[in-house]
Amino acid sequence: MLTTDRLNMIDEFGNRRMIIPAEVKGRYRQWKTKIHFVLLLIFLLLPWVQIDGTQAVLLDIPNRHFELFGYVFLSHDSPLLFFLLISFAMAIMLVTALWGRVWCGWACPQTVFIDSVYRKIEYWIEGSYIKRRRLHDGPLTSEKFIKQTLKWMAFAAVSSVFAHSFAAYFTGSRKLIEMMQTNPGENWTYFAMISFFTGLLLFNFGWFREQFCIIMCPYGRFQGVLMDNQTYNVTYDVSRGEPRKGISESGGKKGDCVSCNRCVQVCPTGIDIRNGLQMECIGCTACMDACDEIMMKVKKPEGLISYRPALESKKVNWFRPRVAAYFIILIFSLGGFAYGVNSHRSFSAIFLKTAEEPFQITPDGRVLNHLKVNLHNQAKKDLRLRISVNEKEKFLLTQAGEAHTVEAGKTSLVHLFVGFEKNRLTSNGTVKVQFIIEELNSHEIQKYETQLIGPLSTP
Ligand code: SF4
Ligand code: SF4
Repeated sequence: MLTTDRLNMIDEFGNRRMIIPAEVKGRYRQWKTKIHFVLLLIFLLLPWVQIDGTQAVLLDIPNRHFELFGYVFLSHDSPLLFFLLISFAMAIMLVTALWGRVWCGWACPQTVFIDSVYRKIEYWIEGSYIKRRRLHDGPLTSEKFIKQTLKWMAFAAVSSVFAHSFAAYFTGSRKLIEMMQTNPGENWTYFAMISFFTGLLLFNFGWFREQFCIIMCPYGRFQGVLMDNQTYNVTYDVSRGEPRKGISESGGKKGDCVSCNRCVQVCPTGIDIRNGLQMECIGCTACMDACDEIMMKVKKPEGLISYRPALESKKVNWFRPRVAAYFIILIFSLGGFAYGVNSHRSFSAIFLKTAEEPFQITPDGRVLNHLKVNLHNQAKKDLRLRISVNEKEKFLLTQAGEAHTVEAGKTSLVHLFVGFEKNRLTSNGTVKVQFIIEELNSHEIQKYETQLIGPLSTP
């Protein structure tokens, strides 16, 4: 029995009520099947796609090395990551303000994996929802044992594939292949990580399911504040549907709802949308397809449950303040990201003074500074970088070799020794120097100014 006093996934004793939704056919289901297929394909293929020698998407967090569609980003590019995250958050907020939980119902990994992979496997092995419910509620027979064993084995197999794909985003697909060919003991951290992900996916998509959306998902919790009465949501048309069949009303008016309960049977979170918009509704559209099918059978117009705003009397204002605010922030954050990507340089350098001995005085009375330079290659190919100093007549630069080769995506440490006359120092014992770094193939030039130090002059 359904109630609005407690979550529908919990029975009167506080135990979980396993929700086994009925299969549904319809135009939204067809669209979702196609979209889920494309999304799954993107998820599985992206780590294996190479663009210009880099992985399409690589998030190597321990080494702070990120590859995104042909661009390489290192740790100091974190502002770009900030813009990217803000853009993603704003896009979700904007979409939620306009069309409610359309992300949850159509593109969230939780929905895509459960709906289009795990429930499909369940259907192939255990049969229709009526058979599955019977099997779930029935005693442990040999048939139940065999079917459930097969199902969990299939779940484990696909979870392992998804966990490997997921890991490839972080370890790199090439490295993952190498590690898969070696003894797990040689790469036990990755082996443990993939085993953990496999277990987590198995637990979440195989058993935990809708509980994640209802209890744990932070987005599900605050979606209410992102929406207003002009937001399109999956909504039951009360004025048309009520009084539903079985409920009489004075005046003899009869609504279109035939009380078939199909909309409840197909709901993956077990709610009755006729009770109004509820936190548990993930906007999956299953009830819309189910009700449309019934309406066609009883020869009534479709759309008793449909996407519509709560406020129906007025025309929807698409540029209301909250939508405009999300849109403007989204445009700014995307602009910031685009600017950052556009002005992305192929290398960068950080100049540091050695901590041990900041300066020395040479036998001929000159001051000598020892600098350490971290050269970051942010390009996809090896770079040859030549460091020189501006005002060569004032500063004598000594370093190992003419140019420094830095491998693609790597950082090299270079030691520099800069000598200069003591009288160049200002009264506080410092002097500014400008270094010029040139990439010898592309001739990209960058200039860095730093401060050299020496003894304080005695009055
Ligand atoms: S599927 Fe439609 S007709 Fe059937 S109970 Fe739900 S709202 Fe009423
Ligand atoms: S009420 Fe409808 S749209 Fe919402 S979760 Fe249930 S079936 Fe999906």
